[in-house]
Amino acid sequence: MSDLTHMSIAGALKGLESKDFTAVELAQAHIDAVEAAKDLNAFVTETPEIALKQAAESDKRRADSKAGALDGIPLAIKDLFCTEGVQTTASSHILEGFVPQYESTVTANLFREGAVMLGKASLDEFAMGSGNTHSYFGNVINPWKGEDGKPLVPGGSSGGSAAIVAARAAMGATGTDTGGSIRQPASFCGITGVKPTYGRCSRWGVIAFASSLDQPGVLARSTEDCALLLQSMAGHDPKDSTSAQKDVPDFAAAITGDIKGFKIGIPKEYRMDGMPDEIEKLWQQGVEWIKDAGADIVDISLPHTKYALATYYIIAPAEASSNLARYDGVRYGLREEGEDLRAMYEKTRAAGFGDEVKRRIMIGTYVLSAGYYDAYYIKAQKVRRLISEDFTKAFEQCDALLTPTAPSAAFAIGENEDDPIKMYLNDVFTVPASLAGLPGMSVPAGLNADGLPLGLQVIGRPWDEETVFKVGGVLEEKAAFTALPQSVIRKAA
Ligand code: GLN
Repeated sequence: MSDLTHMSIAGALKGLESKDFTAVELAQAHIDAVEAAKDLNAFVTETPEIALKQAAESDKRRADSKAGALDGIPLAIKDLFCTEGVQTTASSHILEGFVPQYESTVTANLFREGAVMLGKASLDEFAMGSGNTHSYFGNVINPWKGEDGKPLVPGGSSGGSAAIVAARAAMGATGTDTGGSIRQPASFCGITGVKPTYGRCSRWGVIAFASSLDQPGVLARSTEDCALLLQSMAGHDPKDSTSAQKDVPDFAAAITGDIKGFKIGIPKEYRMDGMPDEIEKLWQQGVEWIKDAGADIVDISLPHTKYALATYYIIAPAEASSNLARYDGVRYGLREEGEDLRAMYEKTRAAGFGDEVKRRIMIGTYVLSAGYYDAYYIKAQKVRRLISEDFTKAFEQCDALLTPTAPSAAFAIGENEDDPIKMYLNDVFTVPASLAGLPGMSVPAGLNADGLPLGLQVIGRPWDEETVFKVGGVLEEKAAFTALPQSVIRKAA
């Protein structure tokens, strides 16, 4: 049955339709794979009973010719999406035991189309991090191993989602991306990740980190699989005032392999000092692939790139400090008793939040406080506008941008922990598009000298995910990335 876990979503849908196997068999194969991948610690909560129940219902719908677009496809759901009746923690102690009474719009959309939930995938606490080392429920381990078998981070914050999809234990997963949390873990785990345009997917029922940046998206093992998942997730939602009233195009149909005459921009500011050779080489390779496919390469400039990280690390914590004020021990999850109300608040928040979350709350309240608000927060908003205008100008000259996804391959657990700034630098190539609300995709493009996956990023115009899928599809075809993580090879042997 293990081959069922190696199929694409498109392939599995065909197999289900032609009755080669049932949704229950597909779910069971993945439940077994989740069990076998326990050492990755990718889930906060596993839901095998729900998966089997949903799969049985799916088989019934298919027998009645009422199957939805994703009927029977087993997925992992990032534990930032509220799921009705199933614990939702954001990987935080403060939300341990919180069982939502409602379903997020994105997961409701997926379940409406028949998707099957294997469990709630771990993440960095409240999606703050780049290595999944900030989860209350422990580190997630990348299925790819370091040279000497050293455990590596899967990236973050959607690290559980990326690890479990790379380990062939879920066919796809939901993620959220605030500054890179889908694209960077996809790159670290050798899979594909798409962050759509801000407003393409509803944020309703997604636990908020930084509301003006948070955007749900997907992780899967091909551009087509990502397109199929995003198709069901996306769309206007009256419950989220920032979700756009736009038609959702046919994303999969955009993957034609034809980018002849397209102009692809290479931002010169992304060629940073100290960029490792392997990343530079991969980028060059990507440029060659694009040229081979008949598109033109144009050099473009995004002059405010150097301010992007600083801007992000003011705006995101500012919004986070405000969003996280609601965790007070009264309404959700954890409560630590105190002698009076104020003491209860303080004790609950002291015990409930981890170090990184506390750091962000402190930065956020500082930059929002009287006297510093103009100097930091307002200034950052102005720079954000300039960063966004850089992209607008660049897109006058080109249809999409090609960059590396991250400045390195997956690093060892424990590395980059001593200095938060080092961890923040991981987001250097992903944060600018987030600040501008643009769609971005990471495609696995090759292996480094240590045999670890590296991704290339495609960034598109607002609402033009179709071009992003088109260019991503070409990179996928050219890279023909078929390498498997060591743990998957061992299992298959
Ligand atoms: N790594 C970035 C951060 O720590 C981005 C996280 C995200 O996109 N959720 O904020």
